[in-house]
Amino acid sequence: MNIMMLQRWFIKLLTPALISAVITAFVSISIIYEQQQNRKALQYNNMSIKSRQLAEWLDTNFSIINNVLLEVEPITQGCDNTVLFELRSLMFNVAPVVEIGIVDKNGILTCTSWQKHNYSIQVQVPPDTYGLRFSGPVTVEYMKQPAFVLARTLKDGSEVNALVRMSWLHNQLKNYSSELGFTGLIDSDTGEAIVLNGHYSKPRQKQYLPIDDDKIVQAYFDNHREQIAAYSPLATLPGLSIVISDEKRLLIDDQPLLSPTWIAIIIILWAALCAAFNSLFSYFTDTGHQLRNALKREEFINYYQPIISNADKKIVGVEVLMRWQHPIEGFKSPITFIPEAEEKGYLNRMTSQQLKKGYRDLQSTIEQDPSFIVTINISASHLLSSYAIDEFIRYKALIPGLTLEVTEDVLIDDANKTIRAAFTALNQAGIKIAIDDFGTGYCGLSYLSQLPVTYLKADKSFIASAGTDAMNAHVLEMIVSLAKNLGLIIIAEGVETIEQSQSLDELKVELHQGWLYSKALPIDDLYSLLDQHDVIIQ
Ligand code: C2E
Ligand code: CA
Ligand code: CA
Repeated sequence: MNIMMLQRWFIKLLTPALISAVITAFVSISIIYEQQQNRKALQYNNMSIKSRQLAEWLDTNFSIINNVLLEVEPITQGCDNTVLFELRSLMFNVAPVVEIGIVDKNGILTCTSWQKHNYSIQVQVPPDTYGLRFSGPVTVEYMKQPAFVLARTLKDGSEVNALVRMSWLHNQLKNYSSELGFTGLIDSDTGEAIVLNGHYSKPRQKQYLPIDDDKIVQAYFDNHREQIAAYSPLATLPGLSIVISDEKRLLIDDQPLLSPTWIAIIIILWAALCAAFNSLFSYFTDTGHQLRNALKREEFINYYQPIISNADKKIVGVEVLMRWQHPIEGFKSPITFIPEAEEKGYLNRMTSQQLKKGYRDLQSTIEQDPSFIVTINISASHLLSSYAIDEFIRYKALIPGLTLEVTEDVLIDDANKTIRAAFTALNQAGIKIAIDDFGTGYCGLSYLSQLPVTYLKADKSFIASAGTDAMNAHVLEMIVSLAKNLGLIIIAEGVETIEQSQSLDELKVELHQGWLYSKALPIDDLYSLLDQHDVIIQ
């Protein structure tokens, strides 16, 4: 595999794959980012809902307890059996409450739903506040377990309270806890936990306190982890809030970045992009497409290589050679595109453009010297096209010295009737034929006498050996004498040295072409040379 093939392979396959990969990566990153954002929003939402639900559940229970306390209000005087019965029946209606008590304005617990106290139990003097309040936890002596106190101060300064089992509160929180996170009932002002499930921690920054509204926090907590926490204050006791929290890593980061469905979609997207870019690239790198565009943009330009008369070293004509000024690849030699242009059917149009430009370029020279030889290279495709033949005939009227160069392999086809007819038509129109690269191809010489050939262009391989003892030098001598016998004119191609030119002189080869005299030139340079009225032998 040579470099050119590798380069083509790269352009054709790797480039589309790479561009597709870049686009797919971009799309994937956007999807991942979008999914992360969605996941975050979902988790935020879930946590907020959970903490609100739990807060509402506690609120429901606390407002029932509040109602019970309000019902106790009219019966706070005394602690006889009727009062006890009333307190007990109220208590049994509210599952989490383990005791209802009455405290007088001096802080003496006078009556509980369990019994009338005959001795004074001093508790806290009821504060002078209105509405439901909490305190605790306290230990209920006869049950040996902690309880949470909900209380109301009455108008006369006494207090009714209800003890709520801490275990009940625990269970409520537990229902909302994940394995590694925590759920807590906390003080809304200080953030301190009152009831807790899990390993409690607080955000390092304290700006989230006090909790006076539902809020969600994503921050580094004092457990050194990034946590998400949802806070909801209770409506019945705004001094208390629910917090539900979990590690961000567990909620968001540890989730798979893309679901299998997305992975499948991304692979399909990549494959589809590859296919699309591949066809797009094939379209643009396709030589046929490029040749068509080059024709449209007139990227093919003419170079002219002088043909020299050996006798007086004057320029007697030119061979018109094609170059492609490719927009990306730069100047391209004809051997790299002529065969493909012929195969893809663009060569005739290219030659047509070449003739038009050639005539425009050389018009003044031809007008001064109508015998000025202008040779162009043609191939079988031209001879098979009546349009091309007609066009050559039209140009013959403008360029009297128009000569068509064909290689021997085209002549092998002379059995082909169309080609034979084309030669006849060209001959009748006075267009001259030159056999290009003579001696390198088909060796049957019969066609030379049968076809209307004027020039033989002896191939540069023979010219290179002119004046030496090499076999090719003898072949050149034979070619020259054969041409003389058939009345054909030899044009020596590829003359590079003075020695070659002198040998050709000895052989009486009259027309020379080669780098010794001049390379193929753009039209302006050709005119500079023509203006010197002589060629400078380099
Ligand atoms: P060719 O028809 O045999 O053209 C002669 C080639 O030999 C030209 O190469 C020319 O630059 C080169 N040459 C001239 N003098 C010397 C020399 O002293 N030494 C050496 N080593 N080379 C010399 P170029 O222009 O690259 O053309 C290559 C071939 O491409 C041509 O060979 C011809 O077969 C084809 N070609 C060029 N232009 C056209 C065109 O317009 N139409 C067609 N159909 N074929 C073209
Ligand atoms: Ca030629
Ligand atoms: Ca040639």
